[in-house]
This record gives sequence, C-alpha cells and structure tokens, in this order.
Amino acid sequence: MATLFTKIINREIPADIVYEDDHVLAFRDIQPVAPVHILIVPKTEIAGVATLPESGDHQYLLNVAKLLAEREGLSNGYRLVINQGEEGGQSVPHLHLHLIGGRKMTWPPG
Ligand code: 5GP
Repeated sequence: MATLFTKIINREIPADIVYEDDHVLAFRDIQPVAPVHILIVPKTEIAGVATLPESGDHQYLLNVAKLLAEREGLSNGYRLVINQGEEGGQSVPHLHLHLIGGRKMTWPPG
C-alpha cells in the first residue's frame, strides 16, 4: 500500500508543492502550525528515522530544508522536526522533515 505521501508524490492526492527533484518532494502542510510549514519528503518510501538505511545521502533532506528556508525568507531562524513513532508524534509512516518558521518558536515543544 502506497503511503499518503507517496500518493502526493504520484499526484494522486493534490498538494501545494514548493519543490521537487529526483530525490525529494516538498509541499505545504495541510494543517500548518506556523506561517511557513513545509514537509520535505524523500521519494523513497522509508517509514522513519528508526528504519533509515545505514547508507544513503539523507543529509540531502537538510540541504533542501536550507534551500527552502532561504527561499521562504526565514533569515531569522526556523525549526526542523522529524517525528518518529507513536511517542514521537509521527502520524504518517513515511520519513519527512518539517520545516517550520515565520514566528518565534517556544521550547520545550509539546
Ligand atoms: P507527522 O505527524 O507524521 O510528523 O507529520 C505529518 C504531517 O502531515 C502533519 O503535520 C499533517 O498535518 C500533514 N498532513 C497529513 N495529511 C496531509 C495531506 O493530505 N496533505 C498535506 N499537505 N499534509 C498532510
């Protein structure tokens, strides 16, 4: 069964796509928690950090986050989040990086 995010990658479900290349799709979160809330998703179906393969250039997600943060004008900072598993608050079992910005973040997160 394709994940929700694979369906978005395959254009079976619409999304507000802001970036795409051979490895990654990035689109705006449907329930944004800040003025900028983008999900950066590898096109390969990896369930999450816990099942990340030993090899593979997953730092690439961070490179895309940096690029999109610059494009979105987040020069005062932003937050990158990966939720893992039930206690981590992960709801979609397809690895994704949240890029959140445009307001002052608080710590600790809820
Ligand atoms: P997680 O909770 O797994 O870390 O993050 C999943 C994110 O996907 C949530 O922030 C949620 O709002 C977002 N999301 C869930 N369904 C959809 C959808 O159909 N379209 C988009 N653009 N985002 C979604």
